[in-house]
Amino acid sequence: MKVPFYDATREYKLYKAQFDKAISDVVSSGAFILGKEVQDFEESICKYTGAKYAVSVANGSDALLIASDILGYKNGAEVITPVFTFFASASCIARLNGKPIFCDVDEDTFNMNMKDAENRITNKTAGILPVHLFLQTADMKACMELAQKHRLTILEDAAEAFGMRTNYKGNDLHAGLIGDFGIFSFFPTKTLGAYGDAGMIITNNEELYNKALSYRTHGSTKRYYHDYVGCNSRLDTLQAAVLNVKLSHIDNAIQNRAKIAAQYRELLKNVSEIKLPVVIDNNKEVNYVFCIKAENRDSLENYLKSKEIGTSIYYPVPLHLQKCFEYLGYKKGDFPVSEKLSKTVLALPMFPELTEDEVSFVCETIKEFYRK
Ligand SMILES: *Cc1c(COP(=O)(O)O)cnc(C)c1O
Repeated sequence: MKVPFYDATREYKLYKAQFDKAISDVVSSGAFILGKEVQDFEESICKYTGAKYAVSVANGSDALLIASDILGYKNGAEVITPVFTFFASASCIARLNGKPIFCDVDEDTFNMNMKDAENRITNKTAGILPVHLFLQTADMKACMELAQKHRLTILEDAAEAFGMRTNYKGNDLHAGLIGDFGIFSFFPTKTLGAYGDAGMIITNNEELYNKALSYRTHGSTKRYYHDYVGCNSRLDTLQAAVLNVKLSHIDNAIQNRAKIAAQYRELLKNVSEIKLPVVIDNNKEVNYVFCIKAENRDSLENYLKSKEIGTSIYYPVPLHLQKCFEYLGYKKGDFPVSEKLSKTVLALPMFPELTEDEVSFVCETIKEFYRK
């Protein structure tokens, strides 16, 4: 048996007629830029998440960059963000000449440690950029308390968090809606994934919405009249058409992910060399990535590879040890939890069309490895 880490073609085969029609409708309409499907998709995202406003863009990294620019995370401003995340959560600040200030993460949830974040606040801090990683949102209650106490803005990197919800002050909210801005990525492997690059900015603030709308078309408010120096970052109509089909099946896809996660948990619960992911009470999880903490991680990964089981390591190098961030002056040992995680985490195959037999095979192979 061969188990891929991720395979987009299985979903395509399931709904082939719907995808083919959606794509050919766009091609025959000729409206490739900001066509009707883009607006439909933005409206559907508002409906699904409860956001007041949604602005689609070319990818999640651009969404972060545009939102950071609008919130003023630039020109020396300090922004606190976790060191254990995907590169784009910090590069958006660095590219605007803002200063990413890294903080460590919680060992159980992999999300930002808000106590460590608080210790890093200075009079130059402009905002916090929490990331909702793998399975659940960061501690947004603690994050908002810091923001209110120190007058900071918040940009939620919800790139991985489509469908995740959290209880905030008695309200059940979708990820990305508590801070000033939230962003999603629709990179193909994400819970809601396009057939190429795609991203989204959401907000409940009308002024921020209007700015985001303008920034994605070169900062113009009216064609050829530019109030800001924005960029060109729009969601392709073709991708929007694909995403509309995918969104109509998303609840089913999220349920399948939950079933797969439950099966992993059941079959791996007695493997003492492995720690399973932990979910905080307050949070409604979505299994975007199923990440275990494993003893002898690298040998396990190689063993699974030899049995044709796909895995992935998110993330092998914490951001403070990336070459391009040497100038920030951090060193090895500065973020002990993240450094430890980068050596122990291993993501197992996780996508809605994975079969029960495949999951069993992955778990059997893991057990076989540790028996040896
Ligand atoms: C995927 C991801 C992004 C970037 O999204 P792209 O659409 O690939 O640009 C940003 N932040 C996190 C945490 C991600 O996982």
